[in-house]
Amino acid sequence: MKDKNAKQHRLADLKFLPERCDFCGCCVAVCPVDCIELEEARLSVDMEVCILCGFCPRACPVNALVGVGA
Ligand code: SF4
Ligand code: SF4
Repeated sequence: MKDKNAKQHRLADLKFLPERCDFCGCCVAVCPVDCIELEEARLSVDMEVCILCGFCPRACPVNALVGVGA
């Protein structure tokens, strides 16, 4: 039986490359744990909360969020 609370880690790590980001908000919309904060021209990911699900690298149109070990 699966534990519904188990973290399903799919990535080993997540990197944010701010020079690529155009602050479109696509990553914020897909994050299941709301750990991406976007304020005007500033984006931050709370890695204490991130479950490394891999959704945001797939949603980012400019590869500003890069999944490591996907
Ligand atoms: S990897 Fe998943 S949990 Fe982590 S910031 Fe991206 S969407 Fe959110
Ligand atoms: S989806 Fe990519 S470009 Fe858009 S806000 Fe997130 S990191 Fe930036």
